[in-house]
Amino acid sequence: MAIERTFSIIKPDATARNLTGAVNAIIEKAGLRIVAQKRIQMTRAQAETFYAVHKARPFFGELVDFMISAPVVVQVLEGDNAIAKYRDVMGATDPSKAADGTIRKVHAKSIGENSVHGSDAAETAAIEIAQFFSGNEIVG
Ligand code: GDP
Repeated sequence: MAIERTFSIIKPDATARNLTGAVNAIIEKAGLRIVAQKRIQMTRAQAETFYAVHKARPFFGELVDFMISAPVVVQVLEGDNAIAKYRDVMGATDPSKAADGTIRKVHAKSIGENSVHGSDAAETAAIEIAQFFSGNEIVG
């Protein structure tokens, strides 16, 4: 399998509950390496750009308000098949449908406040990583 990089966000509901370490423990236990990480307060413009694909969805405003409601931790994760693997580790968008042991099953509060983001494809991973990290901030 190919070594890939994916983009992760530990979302405001998780940072507000002091769960950064708990989420990172699940990520690392799954064999993914955190090769870049920083805690930031996202601006409204950053959140709107990041979720632009959802602009027409009825929950867009709520989603942007949520993402700027508290700090987030943005990360780059590296490993074999990292993009699909992290989607598995995260679990389904709606925590009530997420598999046991996944981050969202264990920690998420709702379909909106669902603790983590992970890229859904190689192309989006590259775009999302570049939005938040410069090359020399990623150390594998
Ligand atoms: P993901 O790839 O699993 O994060 O899911 P999506 O790309 O479909 O949605 C992006 C994010 O929008 C989700 O992670 C949620 O935070 C939020 N979201 C999705 N569906 C809903 C919804 O029905 N209501 C609200 N409030 N937020 C939602």
